[in-house]
Amino acid sequence: MKALVYHGPGEKKWESKPDPGIEQPEDAIVRIDTTTICGTDLHILKGDVPTVEAGRSLGHEAVGTVVQTGSAVRDVKEGDRVLVSCISSCGRCAHCKRGLYSQCLNGGGWILGHLVDGTQAEHVRIPFADNGLYKVPEGLSDEQVLFLSDILPTGFEIGVINGALKPGDTAAVVGAGPVGLAAIMTSQLYGPGRVIAIDQDTSRLERARQFGADMTIDNSSEDAVEKVMEVTGGLGADVVIEAVGIPETFELCTELVAPGGHVANVGVHGTPATLHLETLWIKSITITTGLVDTTSTPTLLELVSEGRLDPTPFATHRFGLDEIMDAYDVFSDAANTNALKVVLSAT
Ligand code: NAD
Ligand code: ZN
Repeated sequence: MKALVYHGPGEKKWESKPDPGIEQPEDAIVRIDTTTICGTDLHILKGDVPTVEAGRSLGHEAVGTVVQTGSAVRDVKEGDRVLVSCISSCGRCAHCKRGLYSQCLNGGGWILGHLVDGTQAEHVRIPFADNGLYKVPEGLSDEQVLFLSDILPTGFEIGVINGALKPGDTAAVVGAGPVGLAAIMTSQLYGPGRVIAIDQDTSRLERARQFGADMTIDNSSEDAVEKVMEVTGGLGADVVIEAVGIPETFELCTELVAPGGHVANVGVHGTPATLHLETLWIKSITITTGLVDTTSTPTLLELVSEGRLDPTPFATHRFGLDEIMDAYDVFSDAANTNALKVVLSAT
């Protein structure tokens, strides 16, 4: 089969490699019908994720068809059309039993396209298939469910749910990339009073409005703290979601939050950020962090199925799976191409 293989920082190739086979009784082999590229894949290619070894096929998002199952797989079978979760989990360990699938103690967590070969390939081996695959509800297209592999549950669980958003709240989302936009989209499920998107890219801010933001702030030219205080009567935002992953945006979030409010960090940070406890201790705020567990995937599938959530506007560019090298060029040049998510389909 063909796969997009990482060969060390800056090096990738769409090339032939052996078809994956069943290695463990709980494995399934899935034929990829549709996959996509994530910002994390770009981080890997920059060399920022040293745990990814040369020779690894990338990708942790896909919709596909089960072609083979191991002897212990019960819930999915050959021919099932499935959504691949970005998180693999045994379902049995102490963490999995509490729904902390991302922290699975038996070799699960974020492993696809990281520690084992991923979904940017013609076939993929899915460990713990019964937990990591979700049958696609009848009548839904690949594009309707593809973004439920990662960005929708991430924005929802680590942003909106960890942020404890309530009806009427003011939510501020810092960073309007795919993950921030997913938080903006799923925040609508909780009836917020006002959603404010903050970014430095005007095309991303335009998208934020399409995805449900009521107000946008370009913090390259506007003072975000001043603006948020102005519209909240000096209180600040009840829920602030960090979806960038750099010290300055985390610190901005702690300035935007209202007393008693929540800062939900979603961004992946590579360097330390300063926590200003000297001003924050008195404000009764809660700060949360998290790696997505994908426990919300069944709920999100239900909402898509019932027509209450439509993730299709994330798809801005479409390619054949074998055009993945071009798709990487478009996705990694989002400032010029305005790409949000690229959809790669097997023909
Ligand atoms: P992205 O890079 O596509 O988007 C980031 C956005 O932030 C861009 O629109 C950019 O213009 C904006 N931005 C950059 N600097 C800014 C600044 N100083 N002020 C305001 N906006 C700024 O990233 P993404 O794919 O949307 O992911 C967002 C973050 O979420 C990343 O750090 C990613 O690694 C992380 N992530 C976390 C999890 C998790 O489980 N916690 C899962 C997936 C992704
Ligand atoms: Zn586990």
